[in-house]
Amino acid sequence: MLKHKSGFKRKIGLPYYSFYTRHFKEFLSLLGLDVVEPIPITEQTIKLGVNNSPEMMCFPYKVVLGNFLQLIKKGANTLVMFNSCGKCKLRHYYKLIDLKLRELNYNFEMVPIRPVDFIPLPLGPFMNKLVYLSGKRKWEIAKIIKKKWQELKEEENKRYLAKEFGKINIAVTGEIYSVLEENINQNIVGQLEGLGATVHSTLNLRALIIPRTFHSKERKLLREKALSFLDQSDPGGHGLHSIEDVLYWSQRGIDGIVHILPLSCHPEILVEEIIDYLCRKNEVPLLRLRIDETSSPLNIGTRVETFFELIKRKKEI
Ligand code: SF4
Repeated sequence: MLKHKSGFKRKIGLPYYSFYTRHFKEFLSLLGLDVVEPIPITEQTIKLGVNNSPEMMCFPYKVVLGNFLQLIKKGANTLVMFNSCGKCKLRHYYKLIDLKLRELNYNFEMVPIRPVDFIPLPLGPFMNKLVYLSGKRKWEIAKIIKKKWQELKEEENKRYLAKEFGKINIAVTGEIYSVLEENINQNIVGQLEGLGATVHSTLNLRALIIPRTFHSKERKLLREKALSFLDQSDPGGHGLHSIEDVLYWSQRGIDGIVHILPLSCHPEILVEEIIDYLCRKNEVPLLRLRIDETSSPLNIGTRVETFFELIKRKKEI
């Protein structure tokens, strides 16, 4: 086991992220790294994050910061954080979290991971980062990456991507963390499924990592169309993806769309108007849910149920 540069044994802290958490943890454990047991997001996590963040910072930042605070208190001294390298705040989370935790007098190393780092080229930066963290050889790491990538693909397909249409079909779109992390969105997908809906989503981490040149022709055309509603420029985050999604699901005859956006998420705020317009034009019922620390499970539950009932009545089921 490698030593942390401060002399302590390296203990990895990973922010909790829905079903991906298990895959990330297994991946790092297969590399022989000591991973602190990830801590699911609870009210306590959110409270810690909110108390240590600027009020107008986007909600996922507060949750991730709160989770890192919990991990560091549990002994993590190497924090792994994704850097989207995109246009929104996610690119800067790791720097801001690093600053805050040092101000709070914690001693740790921050290891940012970028999308390009996931490309397992023998000489790629990810490989170098993993060699640095684990001390394993490149071919061993490449084998583990291949195995985990396949498992990730299978789980994403099973959960959302390769789903058949059911009686009532609802697509969920919006900011990726708020859509996928059920502990901050009151398990909206589970609630809809419990009511009898088949829930679809094209949001997944592999799509975030794989360069757009490898995306399907259909998705590329949808992106061009989505860009035409803006000044031909990507607003960052999943804003453009949300517009693409509305176009994609409308042409497939979806029964309803749930648009989830967290507090202060500028890409999703920017595209709200376009999503409203497209849903009206295509006559697709839309439910918009704003997520923050004040979200009430009762309020969200009631709105989800009402939305489902309206669709059911419309379809006369
Ligand atoms: S997509 Fe939105 S919520 Fe996510 S980091 Fe960017 S601004 Fe924040």
